[in-house]
Amino acid sequence: MNDTVTPMMAQYLALKAGYPDAILFYRMGDFYEMFFDDAVAASAALDIALTKRGKHLDADIAMCGVPVHSAESYLLTLIRKGFRVAVCEQMEDPAEAKKRGSKSVVRRDVVRLVTPGTLTEDSLLDARRHNFLAAIAQVRDEVALAWADISTGALRVMACPMSGLGPELARLAPREVLVADGDDTTLRGIVEETGASLTTLGRSSFDSTQGERRLCALYDVASLDAFGTFHRAEVAALAGLVAYVETTQKGNLPLLRPPVQEQREAIMQIDAATRRSLELTHALGGGRAGSLLAAIDRTVTAAGARLLERRLSAPSRRIEVIAARQTAIATLVDDPALTRDLREHLAQVHDLDRALSRVALDRGGPRDLAAIRNTIEQAKRLHQSLIGTDLLPEAQAALIGHDDILALLDAALVAEPPLLVRDGGFIATGHDDALDAARHLRDEGRGVIAQMQADFIAQTGIAALKIKHNNVLGYFIETTATHAERMMAPPLSQTFIHRQTTANQVRFTTVALNEIESRILNAGGEALEIEKRLYARLSGSVLAQHAALGQLARALADIDVTAALAHLARAEGWVRPVIDDSRDFQITSGRHPVVEEALRKSGTPFVANDCDLSDTPIWLLTGPNMAGKSTYLRQNALIAILAQTGAYVPATQARIGIVSQIFSRVGASDDLARGRSTFMVEMVETAAILNQADDRALVILDEIGRGTATYDGLSIAWATLEHLHDVNRCRALFATHYHEMSNLSAKLAGVDNATVSVKEWDGDVIFLHEVRRGTADRSYGVQVARLAGLPPSVVARAKVVLEALEKGEREGGAARRAVIDDLPLFAAAPPLPPKAVVKQSAVEDRLRNIHPDDLSPKDALALIYDLRSLL
Ligand code: ADP
Repeated sequence: MNDTVTPMMAQYLALKAGYPDAILFYRMGDFYEMFFDDAVAASAALDIALTKRGKHLDADIAMCGVPVHSAESYLLTLIRKGFRVAVCEQMEDPAEAKKRGSKSVVRRDVVRLVTPGTLTEDSLLDARRHNFLAAIAQVRDEVALAWADISTGALRVMACPMSGLGPELARLAPREVLVADGDDTTLRGIVEETGASLTTLGRSSFDSTQGERRLCALYDVASLDAFGTFHRAEVAALAGLVAYVETTQKGNLPLLRPPVQEQREAIMQIDAATRRSLELTHALGGGRAGSLLAAIDRTVTAAGARLLERRLSAPSRRIEVIAARQTAIATLVDDPALTRDLREHLAQVHDLDRALSRVALDRGGPRDLAAIRNTIEQAKRLHQSLIGTDLLPEAQAALIGHDDILALLDAALVAEPPLLVRDGGFIATGHDDALDAARHLRDEGRGVIAQMQADFIAQTGIAALKIKHNNVLGYFIETTATHAERMMAPPLSQTFIHRQTTANQVRFTTVALNEIESRILNAGGEALEIEKRLYARLSGSVLAQHAALGQLARALADIDVTAALAHLARAEGWVRPVIDDSRDFQITSGRHPVVEEALRKSGTPFVANDCDLSDTPIWLLTGPNMAGKSTYLRQNALIAILAQTGAYVPATQARIGIVSQIFSRVGASDDLARGRSTFMVEMVETAAILNQADDRALVILDEIGRGTATYDGLSIAWATLEHLHDVNRCRALFATHYHEMSNLSAKLAGVDNATVSVKEWDGDVIFLHEVRRGTADRSYGVQVARLAGLPPSVVARAKVVLEALEKGEREGGAARRAVIDDLPLFAAAPPLPPKAVVKQSAVEDRLRNIHPDDLSPKDALALIYDLRSLL
């Protein structure tokens, strides 16, 4: 057995040992190579060829590779498929390694661990969505959640009871969640529910004492008190998060803003099931399209879109916060010209947060600096437009005051710089004397080459002679083969040195050309070196201002969201809701923004409806299927959410006493993947509502109890409503198809009946979508079934059955039983033998094969005798 390991393989194995749970991208020249199991997994995930490269311990080494220049898209695929990737680079020029000896391997090291929660590249991120990394820490009985978006620098933390983790994670939708070793068993379920990947860290990462020190060092403060009073668990969660960022970024720390503490009590509580069913930021299908967010998002900047999503995911419970946002929107609703102006300016700004974060992580380039410069300039124009208005005073102030950095960038950068530092040519002429000198030499060199070519033509008399350049030969002289002979003979051969003969051309050089070449090369190289140094200095200056620039980014996002909501409110005729401390809920002519938008496309008007839970906090809604019950229920929940987001709402008038929690159990969605029946899911969610809803909650329950036998379902729905009324004492909209429940309104003071009207016309049902007080007279199920295209015979039969049942119902239990027994439909039919077993008789076979028209009377008689004999 051959157990020698090549030096390169030894290096690979040593590096790989540090990242057992990641795929190692091992840089070899222009490729990232993967070996062994990594190669097998990656080639399958990326659909690329799996090959072999040498042997290790006598077995073939599996290998696959991706080109460096297109590595990002492969990275993205791997991350999306749940892998983590350790990127290992060559840390020196291969020539350096050669100098050390022929056996020497190029030094390599892992420079970054790419994980779902730590992405920063534009191509790997959704510009309009956050990419959160979260950490959960437990210290004794305290639990805290910290989260950061490395690509923008946002860092937040919140103390949170264990039961609150699920809802909070659903709000943030992090891509990756960190937990301490040992906590993963309890937390895995909660984390995976949200679709995030779970990463376990050693407990020491979450140590709050060490963590505090690490955080103080990071922010250069003596104590974290500078940012608030944090519980041990909060410090631990922040510490775990920062430790992980340090490990994955390998010393390149991103710009993390000082931690901001969030209070759970300050935001409306919305659990995961409610978010899903209300389709706040994601439609049930999973995408953004079809969600409330997609329907209301009119922002023109990526940062604005992210802020809007954050606000919509966490509506406020603070009247003053909501009022401030409303006031700002009101200013712009009243001034459409200003709104238009602001939006035009905003459309020109870049994603400042993400540009800054790339620069900080040394993954940025001249174009990021230009984006920062242009954005500062644009912010000044925006400020000009705002002079004299009282719109968002704090944001206004943050728009200006960046003149020093602007002047620096303005003087240093060309108008449209290239993407990468190594491309060079981004520093403006006149900014740096040494650079200008090097460039002059380089460019003058080019002039000299042109002059040289003219001289050579004159000297040789070959007009077709050219000086060209390629990466192998550098500069060379080229002529066609016909002229070459003369150049290879004296006297020309004394000057022209033959270098290469290709199919049609012959290439030469001269001593003078070589000299010029090295001058040009040196000058070009020197210019690039100077530009690199200047880039580093400029990014340093920009990063020194990151706090102020962060505020500018926030101000731009704030103005964008405000202008977008004002624009929306005007265009759609939305109103400013009154938010107060009462327990009222009074909506006049409310609409469902998503359904309305969908209907508009088909030219159908949306019917607006009122809702008033102020005197009777619970409405029991009956009406046939398809009448619009779910739409109505959801629209009221969405109006409450929009109102507390600080937005205007789709209604002509709205007054809402602060809602603390929203619960929604709407529609039946099977959760078979998790092995739970519809009914079970419904009961689990209903239990959560009944256990948690406080007297400021708004509860939306649609058709609960549908998934079981009639009487079971009715009793559960009945008892649930009573519990909401007597114990939870919350506001609620309760849709049911159990008409029997309307009797409850007579018994419970806080319950009123409402119904969605329909009209009967010619045996058909017409949906009016109008909600009015009262009860539905019947359920119209048969008519709805007919509209759905059930065969007429089935519809007709169903009508007969229904009439008989209703008659039985009127006459009491025993009569009803008799009616059911009378109906052949319900009587047990004799079981049919399974199809495959049906044997055809010989008589049938014979009959099938005759053609009556071809039979003579005599044949027919013979046939009858035949058939008789077959019996
Ligand atoms: P239900 O819950 O009573 O079965 P839905 O709320 O699902 O009914 O509504 C059925 C359909 O009726 C919706 O898809 C929508 O197209 C239409 N609809 C509902 N409410 C309205 C309304 N207020 N105005 C116009 N169309 C509506």
